[in-house]
Amino acid sequence: MVQKLEPDWEIVDALMEMEGTDAYKCYQCGKCAGACPLNMLDAITYPVYRVPYEVKLGVIDTEGPEVWQCVGCEACKDTCPRGVSQAKVMRAVRRVLAEFGGMPGTLQSVVASISSGGNPFMEGPEKRTEWAKDLDVPTFDGSQEYFYFSCCTPAYDARAQKLAQATVKILKAAGVTFGIIGEQEKCCCEAIRRGGAEEVFSNVASANIATFNAAGVKKILVQSPHCYITFKNDYPEFEGNYEVVHVTELFYRLIKEGKLKPAKSIEKKVVYHDPCTLGRQSGIYDEPREVLKSIPGLELVEFPNFNREFSVCCGGGGGGLWIEQEMDARLSNLRVRQAVETGADILAVACPYCLQMFEDAVANLHLAIEVRGVSELLAEGLGL
Ligand code: SF4
Ligand code: SF4
Repeated sequence: MVQKLEPDWEIVDALMEMEGTDAYKCYQCGKCAGACPLNMLDAITYPVYRVPYEVKLGVIDTEGPEVWQCVGCEACKDTCPRGVSQAKVMRAVRRVLAEFGGMPGTLQSVVASISSGGNPFMEGPEKRTEWAKDLDVPTFDGSQEYFYFSCCTPAYDARAQKLAQATVKILKAAGVTFGIIGEQEKCCCEAIRRGGAEEVFSNVASANIATFNAAGVKKILVQSPHCYITFKNDYPEFEGNYEVVHVTELFYRLIKEGKLKPAKSIEKKVVYHDPCTLGRQSGIYDEPREVLKSIPGLELVEFPNFNREFSVCCGGGGGGLWIEQEMDARLSNLRVRQAVETGADILAVACPYCLQMFEDAVANLHLAIEVRGVSELLAEGLGL
């Protein structure tokens, strides 16, 4: 006799409350599995199309790592005939798991650090502006055009600080007016929202919005595409409405206007990696490439097949930066090997997460390729 499988409605209801409704659009065609970059890793046998099916049944694997492996790249969404966002379905599962303490320990620590100190690095807010101490960066007071939000990684991480420092030098060279808010700024909270920590996200986002509004912020210039999508797409839910500009967009405009003229040659072959949050999720593909092409001597090459909307995630999205994966389950390893195959001397990135993920992968795999930010390369091309 065939036993009828009954959904666990209590869990299904909880998942729907957590915005998992996209699961009902899924008709199990399996196309998303073909698009998911995790399938390129031998270590993962993760049929992503099963997740909406399990959500509709209220079956959640509280022990398995699968739902924490999704990097939120949304390659699946672009392929799905029904436009299902698996990342959103996963977020619903993560929110329910988080309520019952099922979040990975490293991500839990990050959530606690952001909740108490406003950043994921367990550092004090007074250290947030140390990256800027020798640069004479003005405090944002509403009179400048842009509020520059460095992102926590360039604020606290010694390597990533160079991105923010390069950006400041470029803005000054172009005569752009900007300022930072400093100690009162808190993490944008993109990673922890995608990780399922909704309550901390809403508290910290609301605090940021109050700070930004009190300072008279209208335009936010961001270093990180993760801050970009969060300020642009998530903060309006909490009545935080700002014009958001990624540094590569502004740099390209300033180059076109003749306010930045790179003249110092960089005789290197450079491959540009499209971050999921800047490319696929925000449609910004050309600006970083044009900035790189403006540098004399620099030869821009492309990843064959896997560029622009087909880019492969660095592995740092969807909270991935904070979740430890086995070596053979890391997208960053796959991507840096692809970069080396292009023959490039430099892997250029426009995202602090990509910088961190790729530098770790290059070091772990002992590869001979340098990872540099677009901001850093432009600053060098300007002789700054
Ligand atoms: S591509 Fe869309 S409809 Fe098809 S299995 Fe995946 S989520 Fe479901
Ligand atoms: S968001 Fe990316 S990693 Fe997650 S299921 Fe979709 S394609 Fe796979």
